[in-house]
Amino acid sequence: NPGAVKSGITSVHVNTDRTQIKDGNLYSTYTYDNATVSKSADGKYEVTPTSTDYEFKVDLTVPKTGLMLVGLGGNNGTTLAAAVAANRHNIKFNTKNGEIEPNYFGSVTQASTIKLGVDKDGKDVYAPFSEVLPMLHPNDFVLGGWDISSLNLSDAMKRAKVLEYDLQRQVAKHLQPITPMKSVYYPDFIAANQGERADNVIEGTDKWAHVEHIRKDIREFKEKNGLDKVIVLWTANTERYANLIDGVNDTADNLLKSIKESHEEIAPSTVFAVASILEGVPYINGSPQNTFVPGCIELAEREGAYIGGDDFKSGQTKLKSVLAQFLVDAGIKPLSVASYNHLGNNDGFNLSAPQQFRSKEISKASVIDDMIESNQLLYNDKNGNSVDHCIVIKYVPAVGDSKVAMDEYHSELMLGGHNTISIHNVCEDSLLATPLIIDLVIMAEFLSRVSYKKKGEEGDFQKFHSVLSFLSYWLKAPLTRPGFDAVNGLNKQRAALENLMRALIGLKPNNDMKLEERCL
Ligand code: NAD
Repeated sequence: NPGAVKSGITSVHVNTDRTQIKDGNLYSTYTYDNATVSKSADGKYEVTPTSTDYEFKVDLTVPKTGLMLVGLGGNNGTTLAAAVAANRHNIKFNTKNGEIEPNYFGSVTQASTIKLGVDKDGKDVYAPFSEVLPMLHPNDFVLGGWDISSLNLSDAMKRAKVLEYDLQRQVAKHLQPITPMKSVYYPDFIAANQGERADNVIEGTDKWAHVEHIRKDIREFKEKNGLDKVIVLWTANTERYANLIDGVNDTADNLLKSIKESHEEIAPSTVFAVASILEGVPYINGSPQNTFVPGCIELAEREGAYIGGDDFKSGQTKLKSVLAQFLVDAGIKPLSVASYNHLGNNDGFNLSAPQQFRSKEISKASVIDDMIESNQLLYNDKNGNSVDHCIVIKYVPAVGDSKVAMDEYHSELMLGGHNTISIHNVCEDSLLATPLIIDLVIMAEFLSRVSYKKKGEEGDFQKFHSVLSFLSYWLKAPLTRPGFDAVNGLNKQRAALENLMRALIGLKPNNDMKLEERCL
């Protein structure tokens, strides 16, 4: 039943006087405990505990939601369409290992749990992530979008060479009727080697007309499918960086003016982002390019629209954001991280061009920054402040979508010792990335139903800041509200999500002190 509207509460019921359901909304009160710290010149820390009372409100009605992908006909787009069709119609398929039932493994919202507390014997009890509060289900996504290639999704799925033949065979009839809408194509932004598939492009060179065209597509898709909400997500090819130029893309007004003048530094992805923002539709960037130039972020803030990015954190980088954190938190000092990739899919083909590779390199390089910052005992002026971080990507058609990632972490141990960890990771690229799309969409939709108020303050409940940095868990180079640093460590990102969910149902942050066991 695609697009079914689910409403109400879930199987998790919390006995607390901190929550209340009224008019289809869940209200909760939450005390946010933190501490402000100042450090004096002689190295002393002055710490003052702080606590702020918030009231949260969650709209419990899950809207009928459309997902519009830019790059719908690519490996991720077609894998998503096939995964939804397989799960929705419970399509079982055969492989050399036997019959497989469809599932959503790799998706946090669909296949992971959250610890709620302990049972009477002190054992941890976990509930499915999606059971904590009402959330959109991927089977209910109404899918559409754009691609510069006109292939219908069944043929595009075959081109992608991601899925088992028996699955392709059975989902084909569900994918065949879906054909991508024409898209915005400025050849200068993606690799020249993509030109041969660009047979489905919006005519003309007037960039403002392109914004209007995309806005109309969004409105018509919403209307045609009777949707309450739409989310737009970029999973099209990696673009080159747009040059940041004062007067061109530095402010919202300059950006709008530059689009109207069809300035050469306006990327297709920024056209999509601006169209989505002006339609009040959340826009998520799954690729590394700087779609969100300063003017675009300012426009989102001004319009109160949600944005999230950049670049899916799927295989190698996800592991890096765990492993580097582990080393630094263990007091071991990574000196170098050398990362090699080779892949043979169309993403790899596009990334074989230097400017597109550069976007990816920048995105991959930032991932250990906050870990280095967090430990001044290891990283300081005297002992060295940086890690030699090397990133190589090569296009090797033979391996197709099975991207190979090889990483070497070379670290300094006690008394001049060294430790070298080498990792060989075969990531079935699109099967890793597609569940991230599912989570990003589900969480962006969910976060857009949450509002808050500081206790004691007058006025209405407010929405979260336009930049949805709660989505960082799924993103390599997390976009943050201007003026704030990104959190890259995966465990911290996950804790933020879990503790938000807990707060909304009246629970305090997760506590693993296990005093039931440790105190008599
Ligand atoms: P893909 O090349 O298979 O698909 C991209 C699709 O975008 C293609 O069908 C192409 O025709 C289309 N396209 C290009 N420019 C377009 C435009 N202006 N408008 C509409 N469509 C356009 O790539 P993929 O493997 O699906 O990956 C998609 C993106 O996600 C890439 O940028 C990649 O770097 C990023 N990404 C992927 C992973 C992963 O798969 N593990 C991880 C992180 C980031």
